[in-house]
Amino acid sequence: EAVINRIAAGEVIQRPVNAIKEMIENSIDAKSTNIQVTVKQGGLKYIQIQDNGSGIRREDFEIVCERFTTSKLREFEDLSTIATYGFRGEALASISHIAHLTIQSKTGNEKCAYRAAFVDGKLQESPKAVAGVQGTQIVVEDLFYNMNVRRAAMKNGAEEYQRIIDVVGKYAVHNSSIGFGLKKFNENNDIRTPPNSNAIDNIRTIYGNLIARELINFNVENDELKFKAHGYMTNVNYSTKKFTFLLFINNRLVDCTGLKKCIDQVYTTYLPKHMHPFVYLSLELDPRTIDVNVHPTKHEVHFLSEDQIIESLTSAIETKLLGSNN
Ligand code: ADP
Ligand code: MG
Repeated sequence: EAVINRIAAGEVIQRPVNAIKEMIENSIDAKSTNIQVTVKQGGLKYIQIQDNGSGIRREDFEIVCERFTTSKLREFEDLSTIATYGFRGEALASISHIAHLTIQSKTGNEKCAYRAAFVDGKLQESPKAVAGVQGTQIVVEDLFYNMNVRRAAMKNGAEEYQRIIDVVGKYAVHNSSIGFGLKKFNENNDIRTPPNSNAIDNIRTIYGNLIARELINFNVENDELKFKAHGYMTNVNYSTKKFTFLLFINNRLVDCTGLKKCIDQVYTTYLPKHMHPFVYLSLELDPRTIDVNVHPTKHEVHFLSEDQIIESLTSAIETKLLGSNN
């Protein structure tokens, strides 16, 4: 059983960045206004996420790492909303099967923080009372320590760190009310955004002023296809070597290859000399139309009327792009 759990966990958490993404989403769900990520060796050796959110109650420590246990179901109105988020209660459980996991947390109501280590989905000892501020600190050490092949295949911490910078930067743009920090242990922050910021300022901080000053805003709403979209895009782009595309669907960072290709095509058609666009797109869809069979850690999503929605979005972007160039 331990082996099966480990294999399943390795599917959910394929790289350090997957663990970080899940934990950032937990910190966002806990209404944090500051999230600091610290790593060693691209997260392979050590990941620490510190937030100032609602915290975990002492009595809930027992269950946070149990598979399919989530405190969040009551927040969703119906099953179809859960569908947006896919399977629940898997992230911390998975991490505990393939890494050394320690959680320290304090809620607003408790006098002290509690701290405990977890192994294979279970508390290793009962939580210890320690001094601490409100919020949660999660430490993940020696990821894949019990998966030799995976560990051997992933010794390049620098490459993993690039993936982490990419994901933390995208979350910082999309969640600009939350302050984000990302750094290597004992070094300065590589990403630092303040709380109560806005998307443009965070794009400037993370992607540079050359992109930020060219941004045009777009807002699209389509009642027939039941979607809303807003975001920012450049009509020229001097500094990146590839198409920088930030796509959030119902507030989850996802990939949608079809949509990406179509937007890329618009840029190549209308701005042939500047084929390296930046697009940040936040798309809201009826959760019932998103493919629930896609596991949340498989970032590629599909949804109903995908072709029509892509078509409609692409033409709105095209119109905006042409308008801004006249
Ligand atoms: P899920 O997010 O789907 O509920 P997770 O395994 O990601 O499952 O987290 C399990 C539970 O642990 C959450 O439901 C939540 O109650 C608690 N939790 C995890 N991280 C935090 C955090 N940063 N702050 C508060 N509670 C947390
Ligand atoms: Mg979660």
